[in-house]
Amino acid sequence: MSVARSGKQHKLGDGKRIVIKVGSALMADESKGAVRADWLANLADEIAKLKAGGRDVVMVSSGAIAVGRLHLGLKPGKLPLEEKQAAAATGQIRLAHAYQEALARHDITVAQVLLTLDDTEERRRYLNARNTIDTLLKLGAVPVINENDTVATNEIRFGDNDRLAARVAAMISADTLVLLSTIDGLYTADPNVDPGATFIPEVREITREISGMAGNALPGYSSGGMVTKLVAAEIAMSAGCRMVIADGRKDAPLSAIDAGGLATWFLPSDSPRSARKHWIAASLKAMGSLTLDDGAIGALRSGKSLLPAGVIAIDGQFERGDAVRILAQDGREVARGLVAYGAPDAKRIMGHKSREIEDLLGYRGRDVMVHRDDLALLEEAAQGPATSP
Ligand code: GLU
Repeated sequence: MSVARSGKQHKLGDGKRIVIKVGSALMADESKGAVRADWLANLADEIAKLKAGGRDVVMVSSGAIAVGRLHLGLKPGKLPLEEKQAAAATGQIRLAHAYQEALARHDITVAQVLLTLDDTEERRRYLNARNTIDTLLKLGAVPVINENDTVATNEIRFGDNDRLAARVAAMISADTLVLLSTIDGLYTADPNVDPGATFIPEVREITREISGMAGNALPGYSSGGMVTKLVAAEIAMSAGCRMVIADGRKDAPLSAIDAGGLATWFLPSDSPRSARKHWIAASLKAMGSLTLDDGAIGALRSGKSLLPAGVIAIDGQFERGDAVRILAQDGREVARGLVAYGAPDAKRIMGHKSREIEDLLGYRGRDVMVHRDDLALLEEAAQGPATSP
């Protein structure tokens, strides 16, 4: 095996918001129906270090099925979907509990978040999931995410969590996604088969040649193989998030990455913030418009959120989470944003102070009509390529 030359040394520690995905083979001892507690305790030490350094850490953890199946007396080997879902239901409790115990030693609170891929694709739920995870991070917790396997309507495939982790990273504007797996990164060919395989330390674009290196074979039961990892890399990179694949079997796998250990980095050309702004401005169909008074436009330009008080007219049949055009009084479009209220409620609260929302709607919604993170001023979004979130 040889290693292709790489440029600069990249470090996890340079990230601010880090999503770490852990594969089933690392998390679970399937034959015992248990989480690999010692391994997780070591990882928890590393997570605690990142948190102490001021980083937001989000875990995407597989292993529910692998941990759970034994407890239901399910035999080794392939399971039909309903048995996988049953296994996940009993394994997920153990998984969540193991994280809670491992991180409690560092006084870190764990929060379980079960998502379906739809939650990250469908706009309304997406806004809620993003807000919830943001709030958990602000409050210092470590969200531990898995797919909500019991309600999944499609076949649960190993490797789905690579994609889920990339979508989560995109959704919460993470700058770094780590895939901890049983392989140390990308090779030009399968290193177990081809002794001439060269290790690739750095990728800046998923070209056809790069995709070709993954092959089609899925190596092993609990690994989605390289194919799903490259799909994840594409999702992450187009959201301006760098991704790194590293071998999680070694001690202190995260520190090993920063110490220059073998790992493949996928590096985007854009930042998460500008990729997201560009996605909002250029990739979504606007379902309506909000017209603002001049004061509100000034506030948006100085980086503030849009409050209901600044809205003077509303057009269109949009729902919460849809993209809307944001117009000046003369009809000029100044921004695009994801709106926090559907059109009927938005009409009821426009022109009003945020503290009046509860009286007007009968529930306490969000204070803002469009949050500044969900807003792209058009001059600002003019830079950068059209991408997904
Ligand atoms: N959600 C599955 C589990 O926790 C794993 C899916 C995957 O490995 O990608 O067992």
